[in-house]
Amino acid sequence: MKKISEALSIVLESSKSLGSETVDIDAALGRVLAEDIHANRDLPPFDVSAMDGFAVRSADLPGTLAIVEDIKAGDIPKIALEAGLCSRIMTGAALPKGADAVIRVEDARQLSADSVQIDISVKPRHDVRMRGESMKSGDTVLNKGTELTPGAIGILATVKAKNFRVFRRPNVAILSTGNELESIDDPVDPSKIPDSNSHALMAQVQALGIKPRMLGIALDDPEELERHLRKGLESDLLLVSGGTSVGLHDYVRPTIEKLGIDMKFWRVSMKPGHPLAFGVLERPEGFRALVFGLPGNPVSSMVCFEEFVAPAMRRMMGNNRPYRRTVTARLKHPIAMKPGRTEFVRVQLASDEEGYHAIPTGTQSSGVLLSMARADGLMVLPAECTGLPAGAKVTVQLLDGTEFQNKPGFQE
Ligand code: AMP
Ligand code: MG
Repeated sequence: MKKISEALSIVLESSKSLGSETVDIDAALGRVLAEDIHANRDLPPFDVSAMDGFAVRSADLPGTLAIVEDIKAGDIPKIALEAGLCSRIMTGAALPKGADAVIRVEDARQLSADSVQIDISVKPRHDVRMRGESMKSGDTVLNKGTELTPGAIGILATVKAKNFRVFRRPNVAILSTGNELESIDDPVDPSKIPDSNSHALMAQVQALGIKPRMLGIALDDPEELERHLRKGLESDLLLVSGGTSVGLHDYVRPTIEKLGIDMKFWRVSMKPGHPLAFGVLERPEGFRALVFGLPGNPVSSMVCFEEFVAPAMRRMMGNNRPYRRTVTARLKHPIAMKPGRTEFVRVQLASDEEGYHAIPTGTQSSGVLLSMARADGLMVLPAECTGLPAGAKVTVQLLDGTEFQNKPGFQE
């Protein structure tokens, strides 16, 4: 049985990035850069006004100045400022030669159409955005391995990167196994269990920007399982749920081994998620496939995806940051725990002036998927923990869907 950290390092060592491809900026959100991106020019490209007002020579202030030009954003200033002169200037417009500061309209008193009185004095650069202040030509503005957010897309547009290299995304196949399973398209049969894993896993994969290939349900039959697994192994990543335990009809392990997959581990010391299997199929052509045998229990399947599959996928996609963000929270109520395995407790987070409180989402049985559906995060309790009092500090991994709350969360 592997500790989580051992299992995770085996998984990440096997998760190599898949090479790169070129994408257009319009289709790049969420992709991971496979190259460094550099500034193609200074920005701003010249000194610009940060305000609507008057471009001045700071040495002239305070004083009465003659207005010699109107400069709008996009204009090229024509008149250089000599002593006693100023130009009316708009936000974003280039400063004229000789000017070194801008005075806001509110701080100037217009005396006539072509003269203005300024009673304050300012230092050079006042309300001026200097050339190269945002970026200098040649600067690395985005690093290889960065996941592209809307802000990063804006930067790519700024440096005129219309096409660029990103890491290829893995092809993912999903297979559920079990004679008892009923597909979403089957009529309700009182003797069956609905296949939720295929769809919960599908959504977890989609949350990483990938549309998985759905292989459906395989019966607990070695031949049928083999046929399905062979199909799944055409993908970079195969997720099989159910049948990884030691039951008489758990055929996933022997079938996977028969197909020549190098099994790296079968058990991980965690709860839920104990019977988690991981293997690698090396091929002479160099193409390799990763296979996860996820436990059948719906919560276990999802938690194992979060802890192992998602970091592996982020690594395959070249992401520098494969792990979920964590926050520190305090327990709302005391919690009892049997020591032995690292435990992932599904919790909701509520915040007050002290920070976050973690509140378990009810029954923590690995079969009760509602505990996952209601969760903001997974509270991680170390293996040796025998329980914690109310108020104890705990670590919570945030899950998707925790971004929003019904109050703004700040005070003006
Ligand atoms: P197994 O890992 O095959 O021993 O299954 C453990 C438990 O998970 C059993 O109660 C199964 O019925 C249930 N289970 C297995 N696969 C699924 C699935 N795809 N959707 C929902 N429950 C499942
Ligand atoms: Mg089963």
